[in-house]
Amino acid sequence: MRVAVVGSGFAGSLLARILAVQGHDVVLLERGTHPRFAIGESSTPLANLTLERLARRYGLDDCYDLAAHGRWVARFPELRRGLKRGFTFYRHHAGRPFSVDGTGTERLLVAASPNDHVADNHWLRADVDHHFVRAAVAAGVEYRDRTDVTADLLQQLQADFVIDASGPGGFLARQLGIPSGLHRTHTRAGLLFSHFEGVRLCSDVVPGLPPGPYPDDWAAVHHIIDEGWMYSLRFDDGVTSAGFVLRDRGPGAPPPDHMWQHLLCRYPTIGALFADAKPLMPLVYKRRIQHRLTQAVGERWAMLPHAFAFVDPLFSTGIAWSLRAIERLALCFEQGQPEPDDLARYGRLLAAEADQIDWLVAGAYLAMARFDLFAAHSMIYFATVSFAEVHQRIRPTETAAWSGFLGVDDPQLGGLPRASLRRLRHVRSAADRREFVRWVSKAIAPRNVCGLANPAAHGLYPVDLDVLVRRHTVLGMSREALVSALPALRGYS
Ligand SMILES: Cc1cc2nc3c(=O)[nH]c(=O)nc-3n(C[C@H](O)[C@H](O)[C@H](O)COP(=O)(O)OP(=O)(O)OC[C@H]3O[C@@H](n4cnc5c(N)ncnc54)[C@H](O)[C@@H]3O)c2cc1C
Repeated sequence: MRVAVVGSGFAGSLLARILAVQGHDVVLLERGTHPRFAIGESSTPLANLTLERLARRYGLDDCYDLAAHGRWVARFPELRRGLKRGFTFYRHHAGRPFSVDGTGTERLLVAASPNDHVADNHWLRADVDHHFVRAAVAAGVEYRDRTDVTADLLQQLQADFVIDASGPGGFLARQLGIPSGLHRTHTRAGLLFSHFEGVRLCSDVVPGLPPGPYPDDWAAVHHIIDEGWMYSLRFDDGVTSAGFVLRDRGPGAPPPDHMWQHLLCRYPTIGALFADAKPLMPLVYKRRIQHRLTQAVGERWAMLPHAFAFVDPLFSTGIAWSLRAIERLALCFEQGQPEPDDLARYGRLLAAEADQIDWLVAGAYLAMARFDLFAAHSMIYFATVSFAEVHQRIRPTETAAWSGFLGVDDPQLGGLPRASLRRLRHVRSAADRREFVRWVSKAIAPRNVCGLANPAAHGLYPVDLDVLVRRHTVLGMSREALVSALPALRGYS
């Protein structure tokens, strides 16, 4: 088949390359050129699992090496990345430095890996996306950059199928007049961001920070504030990608530099972290980062997730979701022309998953006011992804690609993000908060393989295989069967 892929972010390039490996005739069309700046950098274990599956199925050995920090550094030292050992959260309060206050501390660390070697990475997208384009070209993809893609061009190229990988560029949405579906989503936020040099370490700025399951800064660091939250992703070369994700402020905003300085003054610990930081490019403010369409597939076309919908960077869902969708579409193309039923299934899943991400994130924004609520609500995310990860590693199947992302289709977990959002709307008193925490703990229990929502952990969750073994029944396995399956987890083979 002649397939045109519009947009050469990592997702478009990787899918184009896989289709070429399958024997399709693929043209990859990009309006810009590489290397180019992009945000959306923090990867997760589920993303890496998909990369590993794609690597095995289609013989993409670079993808296998890019799926773990140690292998990446050894094989591709020139591709910039950052060590990501987990998810770090701090709750800041205006005018007060962040402090670690005994057991009531507003700090949550959830490890995603047991050591640096198998850890996740933040992707310096300029390098990684460029790598994927080059790999696509090497696999036989025809690549045209600086291209104004039009319906006429696609006709000239005689494309039998079009994949929209243009992200928020919204190529097919404009070509086909696909209506926005943003009205059905709850999350609305703006973004103030740049890349910085000279960001200090939390461990240097917060006195008496007790050791956690990994060094706090080598993670996706989330600073929760009254206005929303800030992400801070440290690359190994000393550059940090950081941005404030701010609840909808309506039209009219001060200049980005003023907003930035105002927030640094308001939150003294964030101010101290960024006191000597220099932006490597001017700060940018985008009033709204969400988008959502009403249709993700049609006759002879399909969209990748970032072209269809984006909710929020909270919980780093974008890369993992995009890779899962690539895996699904690649399967659809294995026998030639994708079957309409498979495409319809793909479209239904994408819509359900966009809703799921939105409910999860909307609940998190509601919960941000009180850290106990936020920590409890976020356990729904961690229970869902850790269960999926362990399940997929211990029982790898060909059908993992079609399992719903973030618990969609899981009878135990699927309804939780939405149910949590509904409950959070009614939380008023301290007793309500305690009840909410109890509810989450009970609701995730049937899938809680990692001992999450444990008050005795005081917000510090390492990767603990002993806990997993004790919870073997959650995976429907005997203790012995789980112990013998552990090598698949320990070394992340
Ligand atoms: C603020 C923010 C933070 C994020 N943080 C994270 C994170 O920490 N972790 C995570 O997993 N995800 C994150 N994401 C999501 C992540 O950015 C996306 O999942 C990822 O970029 C998707 O990659 P992609 O290749 O599909 O699209 P993109 O990276 O958006 O690439 C689209 C490409 O298409 C090209 N293009 C656009 N229009 C056209 C056109 N008309 N013709 C030709 N080419 C076109 C563009 O130039 C670009 O090269 C974040 C997103 C945002 C907005």
